[in-house]
Amino acid sequence: MKLILLGPPGAGKGTQAKLLVQKFAIPQISTGDILRAAVKDGTPMGVKAKSFMDAGGLVPDEVVVGIVKERLQKDDCSNGFILDGFPRTLPQADALQDTLKSLDKNLDAVISLEVDIEALVERLTGRRSCPACGAGFHVKYEPPKQDGICDKCGAALIQRDDDREETIRNRMQVYQDQTLPLVTYYQQAGLLSKVDGMLPIGEVTVLIDALLKGLR
Ligand code: AMP
Repeated sequence: MKLILLGPPGAGKGTQAKLLVQKFAIPQISTGDILRAAVKDGTPMGVKAKSFMDAGGLVPDEVVVGIVKERLQKDDCSNGFILDGFPRTLPQADALQDTLKSLDKNLDAVISLEVDIEALVERLTGRRSCPACGAGFHVKYEPPKQDGICDKCGAALIQRDDDREETIRNRMQVYQDQTLPLVTYYQQAGLLSKVDGMLPIGEVTVLIDALLKGLR
């Protein structure tokens, strides 16, 4: 199962990817998670990426393409993978095709989560995460029992720098300008399936399951 989850920030790619990871025992490759880890560790790549990320812009193609190329060659990708947040530009999509070709692999499907941008802004500005254990919350849709405190480990919750409203508007614009063309790109390649990403998480999962069953 070699999949891409496509959709704007906050569409639920990460959430669905994690469920698919459990189901198919294949890794989720999230360039956003890898970059955030690099920023946290203060690696040279993280230092370079941070200013782009904080502004809601895209990290240069060569950086993310390098990350994904390296990641796809690891053993745990031999039965498949779920790409979440990559590709985000046409050059990244072309680079992915070249990489997969060199590894003698083909994509099975590209799932586009279709969503309403204004609703997403609300989803994203309300997101909170735990810096200690990684648990995720939402001030309106999945509030912690005690305001601002992680249910799982008791640490103070934080808002990601790139979840501030101004940054989010910028990220949505970047999505529309640079990532949306990939919908047509993968449609033309005969790989695209659209799923209503505004439905509750469980219903989106059911739709994705049905779609993947149809492929197998
Ligand atoms: P995400 O968690 O996927 O929303 O990614 C967070 C941030 O990481 C994005 O706003 C970008 O700055 C950066 N990023 C993640 N994936 C990519 C990518 N494929 N290309 C360029 N920048 C990326």
